[in-house]
Amino acid sequence: MIKSLFEGFLDLVYPPHCILCKTNSSARLPRHPLCPQCQHQISWNTPPFCPKCSRHLGSAQRARCRDCQQTPMHFDFAWSACLYQDLLRTLIHKFKYEQKTYLRFFLTQLMIDFIHRHELDIAQFDLLVPIPLFPTRLRERGYNQSLLLTQQLSKTFNIPYADHHLIRVRPTETQTHLSRKERWTNIEHAFKIKAPWKVRGQSILIIDDLMTTGATASTAAQCLKQSGAKTVAVLTPAITL
Ligand SMILES: [Zn+2]
Ligand SMILES: [Zn+2]
Repeated sequence: MIKSLFEGFLDLVYPPHCILCKTNSSARLPRHPLCPQCQHQISWNTPPFCPKCSRHLGSAQRARCRDCQQTPMHFDFAWSACLYQDLLRTLIHKFKYEQKTYLRFFLTQLMIDFIHRHELDIAQFDLLVPIPLFPTRLRERGYNQSLLLTQQLSKTFNIPYADHHLIRVRPTETQTHLSRKERWTNIEHAFKIKAPWKVRGQSILIIDDLMTTGATASTAAQCLKQSGAKTVAVLTPAITL
């Protein structure tokens, strides 16, 4: 059978097999990189949520998660769709470090589904702002993964985005292999607001690919708040447990 031009195009974008286990599956949906078996291994972030960072609180009767109790976060609240473990960890790694930019569709869909499932009020935001990369890192990688997610969300929810208000003013070591304390020191003074009058009074949703200690998002939020942003929240496809 001759495929339509559109299907042919999608085949170019997406490999014909599951990106993780490599099986060919006819059950795979279009624009979907995973077979149903792999898809089932991705775990949603479920309530009870930490009211500050949305980390799952487990059965312990705590008002906030350990990280938020230890360090006050500068963002007002955060939403994370899934748990950063197993296959999702691999997917995000491929998205970030292996040029698999088509995974932006799938990772954005996780956030969209999470927003609908929990009836989160995304319409309250005036602006979406991706966590920026330092220019040398951006040149090496060729793209900012957080900007790719931001653009997809902007299209879906019809909220404008700006990737030039919040800028990275100092190169930072990748946070991946740093301890909790080192992450906070590493990211200190990493961001600046280019035109503070553009964020003043705005409700801003920061977009990043992952929430770990919250150090990056909190530091960026602090910058936005100091420039007069009204509300600053964070949205990511994944959070560490
Ligand atoms: Zn698979
Ligand atoms: Zn928390």
